[in-house]
Amino acid sequence: MHQLTTRILIALVLGAVTGLALNQWAPDLFQSLNQYVFDPAGNLFLRLIMMLVVPLVFLSIVVGVSDLGSPKQLGRMGLKTVAFFLGTTVIALTLALTVATIVQPGDPGLLGEGLAENYEAAEAPPFIETLVNIIPNNPIEAMSSGAMLQIIAFAIFVGLAMAVLGEKVTTVKSFFKQGNDIMMTLVTFVMKFAPIGAFALIASALGQAGWSAVFSLGAYMLTVVGVLLIHVFGVYSLLIYFFGKMNPLTFYKGFFPAMTMAFSLSSSNATLPLSMKIAQENLGVSKQVSGFVQPLGATINMDGTGIMQAVATVFIAQVYVADLSLMDMVVIVLTATLASIGTAGVPGVGMIMLAMVLTQVGLSPAGIALVIGVDRLLDMLRTSVNITGDAALAVIVDRSEKRRGALPSHDSGDV
Ligand code: ASP
Repeated sequence: MHQLTTRILIALVLGAVTGLALNQWAPDLFQSLNQYVFDPAGNLFLRLIMMLVVPLVFLSIVVGVSDLGSPKQLGRMGLKTVAFFLGTTVIALTLALTVATIVQPGDPGLLGEGLAENYEAAEAPPFIETLVNIIPNNPIEAMSSGAMLQIIAFAIFVGLAMAVLGEKVTTVKSFFKQGNDIMMTLVTFVMKFAPIGAFALIASALGQAGWSAVFSLGAYMLTVVGVLLIHVFGVYSLLIYFFGKMNPLTFYKGFFPAMTMAFSLSSSNATLPLSMKIAQENLGVSKQVSGFVQPLGATINMDGTGIMQAVATVFIAQVYVADLSLMDMVVIVLTATLASIGTAGVPGVGMIMLAMVLTQVGLSPAGIALVIGVDRLLDMLRTSVNITGDAALAVIVDRSEKRRGALPSHDSGDV
């Protein structure tokens, strides 16, 4: 794993340099290379890994839930998980709003640069609909369309029924367990191609984005990056230390490969197979907890995305010279938290949620055009933060269940 991380890092640096250099000095060559090499190679890797997500999520949740002691334990874990996810998202948003209000990254002069041109805002689904839709009409359809929350719900039901039936379904249980092992083996196999995939994805992303947008939006980007760093290394470290009783350095060292992968993929969902494997192998999180908390987190917990939305909203308001009241800030926290529940962890989804947040505080969703130029770059960073939050919580839930004696204990890196 150590070697793999080094290779991915080297690939990221080489990919970034290649993309930026081509964008700067040989844009035509970049177009052809992107069309015939970077884009197909990156896509191929992405598809290889996406291919594993649905079966892995389904199997790991079924196996995890059926292995839990009782439905009561599932209920307790579920409550802890959702409460922590919502809690960290609210902290992330509050932190981002505070920092952005102090830093004031927006400047009305930016409108003169013609940044805010036609942007078609996409719509996020209404919240009640999201809740009702958690129960699938048809589980096969949910799987074929990759509807994560529906797959999770169905898997929990199947796992619970298997727990109730106990000994009577040992054959099915070992079938699912072996299926899960097969998927995990495939993750190891696919990860061998990660450096090539990372190189291609980053070269393509940076080759398209280039530097120019970065300069005019420097203050905005620095504010987002600053808050992301404070949240990951400050807030998560404290939570990991106090609630997970784990040395934060051990956590980051162990989980780093998944963070680099999320950076290249810009998708919590696509990173899921690797982040689960790493949490289990490097951080000693039990399969039951990892299989439940991380897939759920990839869908409903997006602290990094929330941070970008909060900073972007303050930034857009400043550019449009619109005032945000304290009530508006509360609305931003509520809308962004709820919006993250219904949207899956795929590239760029944060922008769709941002449209919803802007509308709620009376700003035009067209303001998105102001920040979209650098969004691909920020998406990479915030996705790393999103999955780190999921893994941090997996460690916390795992250790607290072990302390209660509800799971067999493990001693990896605990303080
Ligand atoms: N790409 C992010 C994720 O998958 C979501 C976003 O912020 O766009 O977690």
